[in-house]
Amino acid sequence: MAKQLGNLKKYQCGLCEKIVTNIQIHVRRHTNDKPYPCTYCEKRFTNSGDLQIHVRIHTVKLFFFNLIQYLFFFREKNHMHVHYV
Ligand SMILES: [Zn+2]
Ligand SMILES: [Zn+2]
Repeated sequence: MAKQLGNLKKYQCGLCEKIVTNIQIHVRRHTNDKPYPCTYCEKRFTNSGDLQIHVRIHTVKLFFFNLIQYLFFFREKNHMHVHYV
């Protein structure tokens, strides 16, 4: 991830390609800095790929929730229909 540049005590960050003297402290910035927040919950992610994988959990849940609502709605409707006609 990080490589030392020559004899100088400088390192190149594998994440942002910046040249830094203290890679440990620098890398910590990336782990704390999560620019991709989830629109469905409080979670944040360092890269868009991770976010997309995470968001799928919500969209799948939402799909099943809507499906259940839909099925219940029609069951109720049919039930009432049978009752009152
Ligand atoms: Zn960096
Ligand atoms: Zn989420």
